[in-house]
Amino acid sequence: MRYISTRGQAPALNFEDVLLAGLASDGGLYVPENLPRFTVEEIASWAGLPYHELAFRVMRPFVAGCIADADFKKILEETYGVFAHKAVAPLTQLGANEWVLELFQGPTLAFKDFALQLLGRLLDHVLTRRGERVVIMGATSGDTGSAAIEGCKACENVDIFIMHPHNRVSEVQRRQMTTILGDNIHNIAIEGNFDDCQEMVKASFADQGFLKGTRLVAVNSINWARIMAQIVYYFHAALQLGAPYRSVAFSVPTGNFGDIFAGYLARNMGLPVNQLIVATNRNDILHRFMSGNRYDKDTLHPSLSPSMDIMVSSNFERLLFDLHGRNGAAVAALMDSFKATGRLAVEDDRWTEARRLFDSLAVDDESTCATIAGVHGETGYLLDPHTAIGVKAARECRRSLALPMVVLGTAHPVKFPEAVEKAGIGAAPQLPAHLADLFQREERCSVLPNDLKAVQDFVSRHGNRGKPL
Ligand SMILES: *Cc1c(COP(=O)(O)O)cnc(C)c1O
Repeated sequence: MRYISTRGQAPALNFEDVLLAGLASDGGLYVPENLPRFTVEEIASWAGLPYHELAFRVMRPFVAGCIADADFKKILEETYGVFAHKAVAPLTQLGANEWVLELFQGPTLAFKDFALQLLGRLLDHVLTRRGERVVIMGATSGDTGSAAIEGCKACENVDIFIMHPHNRVSEVQRRQMTTILGDNIHNIAIEGNFDDCQEMVKASFADQGFLKGTRLVAVNSINWARIMAQIVYYFHAALQLGAPYRSVAFSVPTGNFGDIFAGYLARNMGLPVNQLIVATNRNDILHRFMSGNRYDKDTLHPSLSPSMDIMVSSNFERLLFDLHGRNGAAVAALMDSFKATGRLAVEDDRWTEARRLFDSLAVDDESTCATIAGVHGETGYLLDPHTAIGVKAARECRRSLALPMVVLGTAHPVKFPEAVEKAGIGAAPQLPAHLADLFQREERCSVLPNDLKAVQDFVSRHGNRGKPL
């Protein structure tokens, strides 16, 4: 499989190089040159497979030529073996033909584990073969950092540096990062905000002299391997609800458009998906596009669903590429103009094409809490605020009551106690067994000033399993 850039100028790469690449050299994002397409018979034959075996069948075409089948099978068995639930991604029924796909049974209790547990293992596999070491740098407002650290903690060939804003992530989120002790794990609390952290990552990619030749790798949501891993659970859920002989709808709590883009790909690979709902919080740039063809940048509004607090959606460009007939020059022109003006609209027929599949809703904090309280009252089931936004949007936007509606349950409610408290339910969510002693565990973290040089010095002094590069 070869991968091409959404802006049409960067060289095509194979899977291994895409895994190690961040943005393409022309500023675009990598996508498969040809998407695999499965037949109805093939998909039907996968019903009932264990998660890791289904994952092998769905993802095999994407890694073909780079990872041997036997190695890939072993990696997948290990990856999904660490999930707490035997079904890996269990479905819970909420109402008539309405389901939550629980994607929070992994080590850090959010769906990002599906991709980052796999990414860490794939990186280590490829790097061992190459005899190479890399440094990962990432910025997090919470969920990504812990999932990335958990995914990389056993990697022989990776040192990971995760920056979070000092005193600005929740205690559960901080402890999920800082209690993972390993000489290749480096938590940095920056005396600044999330944007400061992200700027330092960007600046480090732009000028890598401080790394003395060591390769820098990104694990943010534009990494192709993350999208790829997320395609699998759409197949897994739909198969249990009657696909490929029955269509299924999905409602997806969305920030950077990564998770829902994976659902779009699943559909283009042959899965009968009749509707995809973009569920956003007040940071609603995607809702503005889907409802009125206005992808206009706004300021950031902090919300009770912080993992969806974004100003622009980094993976949206991948959808634009398809909407423009995979014309890289057209996408490059659009993105250049978006960069200059902060606004973007597409031609009417392209927007209509998107609307055949996608619907959307923006849900504010008040309505999020009302949904948590409402569902808890109806069923006793406790939603996290991100998933609650998905449920609300599913109920508002649903096209067919006859088809199953699956809401992606992106996080465990214990990660976001503030929203649950504000919903006024009373009972606080409890940590699951494997994290029960989280508040007693030893923490390790370095506090650094909001200063690029200080951070880069730190990385070069510790980037080789705690020793200098
Ligand atoms: C990251 C995250 C999201 C948003 O996912 P995208 O791929 O950025 O759309 C939603 N919910 C939770 C809990 C998350 O951690």
